Amino acid sequence: MELIVAENAGFCFGVKRAIDLAYETIEKTNEEIYSIGPLIHNEIVTNDLKDKGLVILDKPEDIAALHNKKVLIRTHGIEKQVYELLKNNNNEIIDLTCPFVRKIHDLVKEYSEKGYKIIVIGDREHPEVKGIVSYSVSPIYVVLSVDDINNLNIDKNDKVFVVFQTTTNAANAQKLVDILRDLFYNISLVNTICNATQNRQEEVKNLAESCGVMLIIGSKSSSNTKKLYEIAKKYCENTYLLEKASDTKNIKIDKNKKVGVSAGASTPKYLIEEILNNVRNEF
Ligand code: SF4
Repeated sequence: MELIVAENAGFCFGVKRAIDLAYETIEKTNEEIYSIGPLIHNEIVTNDLKDKGLVILDKPEDIAALHNKKVLIRTHGIEKQVYELLKNNNNEIIDLTCPFVRKIHDLVKEYSEKGYKIIVIGDREHPEVKGIVSYSVSPIYVVLSVDDINNLNIDKNDKVFVVFQTTTNAANAQKLVDILRDLFYNISLVNTICNATQNRQEEVKNLAESCGVMLIIGSKSSSNTKKLYEIAKKYCENTYLLEKASDTKNIKIDKNKKVGVSAGASTPKYLIEEILNNVRNEF
């Protein structure tokens, strides 16, 4: 069987930086350490961090009750109000927000202060997008489809500034940008789709076009893993999403076909290795 692993499979720069710093911080301190939501979207890594002592808070009342503690901020950031609340409650913030996400917060703040109406191309339910939205001081809209654009309540002469969720699908975003450019006379944009995301998506498309089977490794809760799966599935019918090593038991691989492998930006190397070993042993 020919196994081809995408060059950029697995941890991206932002996730590696956050996870390394998180483990380092946990090892160095005896105090309890908290995070607001999971640091990255991968249950295996999250559970390991919990086993080592990280306490993950989700409920607003628990976050509000946190005083004088060490708090890690996840890679895709948190809402501005939550950040300020943590600071006001005298917590020590260790900010692991990816610099690429932080840049979007800064852009949204800057352009909204200049009076632009902001459009975010992304998923309004995703925590990264909720964080981005919280940095605008002027009206801000989130769109992911042509219907969303048709429902926008923005005058064609208004100043409009567009940013993108870092992991949004580049092809869909381009289609929406073309429509927005036709609708608004005064539109500016900064492409904030992360290179790590774009490279992975491009690689997966190319691999899927030439392979008979595609394996995408990562969590179903990870936005960028799901996008890789969708892209691979579009070009290769036999595409599987594997979350853990034992998932290889539920798939069928024709040995005569080329097998392409990629993994989301929050998938650890050891999980990719385990799955590759299983595939080599079982097929
Ligand atoms: S995918 Fe990009 S934006 Fe997201 S954490 Fe990784 S490097 Fe940062």
